[in-house]
Amino acid sequence: MSSTAEPKVYGWCPGALRPMMSGDGLVVRVRAPLGKLSAAQARGVARLSEEFGNGLLDISARANLQMRGIREDAHEDLIDGLRGLGLIDPDAGAEARRNVLLTPFWQEGDDTHAIATALSAALTAATDLALPGKFGFAVDCSSEPVLQDTAADIRIERSGSALILRADGADTGKPVTSESAVSEALALARWFLEQGGAPDGRGRMHRFIARRGPPLAHTEPAAKAGFTAKPGPVPAGALAALEFGQMPAATLAQLAEHGEIRLTPWRALLVEGTENLPSLPGLILDEADPRLQVVACTGAPGCLQALSATRDLARELAPHVPAGARLHISGCAKGCACPGTTPLTLTATGKNEFSLIRNGTAADEPLKTRLSAGALRAAPELLKEGN
Ligand code: SF4
Repeated sequence: MSSTAEPKVYGWCPGALRPMMSGDGLVVRVRAPLGKLSAAQARGVARLSEEFGNGLLDISARANLQMRGIREDAHEDLIDGLRGLGLIDPDAGAEARRNVLLTPFWQEGDDTHAIATALSAALTAATDLALPGKFGFAVDCSSEPVLQDTAADIRIERSGSALILRADGADTGKPVTSESAVSEALALARWFLEQGGAPDGRGRMHRFIARRGPPLAHTEPAAKAGFTAKPGPVPAGALAALEFGQMPAATLAQLAEHGEIRLTPWRALLVEGTENLPSLPGLILDEADPRLQVVACTGAPGCLQALSATRDLARELAPHVPAGARLHISGCAKGCACPGTTPLTLTATGKNEFSLIRNGTAADEPLKTRLSAGALRAAPELLKEGN
């Protein structure tokens, strides 16, 4: 691939029933109901990953579990195994529609749990709802919203003591109750389609809202909350971050010995009912670990579009990232690992060759070009130049 090749935009995300081919085999994304795996499900997924894939599991930015390196001829057997674990939707359409992310801090029977359960069922049943491939819902009804920085098109969240329904990109929403939230959310999704939000089957709510604003009834101001996930104890258990959002399948199986697992959108797992977690391959348990300051996509050879490897360099540069900053290393300009801006981004432009972008995305105008991985390793202060 030449360094000038445009990254391919698929416009849809892989699922389990509709996997995507990557450089290391099929990527099969499991959308665990309510973002939770029982101990038996976690052990089962780990076993299937080792039997049919390369034994590596990713957690996606929407809290889905991604099985990597699945052999094409093993996909059917894998699906049978996942179906036996209760992790497969009735069909690929239902799997794509049931794109519901919920705060991992939910409690059994609270608003988040009740609404996410009902919304998942309603979306599964809504066979006429032709939403764009990446269109998703966030249910974030704990005392403070924690998902506002996570991609979603329709949000149900807490604002003071009330619940509001909010179109992504709008500062205001419509007051709802736990009983009305689901039907109102589906009505907002239909409004988006009817108003031309996805003319050719593609489109995201925030772009549409930027053009035409929210519906008239959306007048209630949203709460503004900043949340940063850190490894360590949290109300429902303990958070363990994953290096680059990836872990060996054996780590998931071992974590399941300590509690049931909740998937989070922060490249971290929440293990229920425990405060202390063992040190296992792929886990980051110390909030001061410099690897928490770097983000790197799969890169080469795992991604077919990658122009270079990314993660070894990220590991080596992590201790040199200035305090409070963040470094994103991207195998191409698509920037999958971090679609937003970061203080520092290295975008591959060829094998072991990168452009440096400051306060931008992987596709933005670079400050420096043709930086070799070797030069960056030898002189990591290059990252700070031009500050
Ligand atoms: S950003 Fe990384 S993972 Fe995404 S397409 Fe480019 S190389 Fe692949």
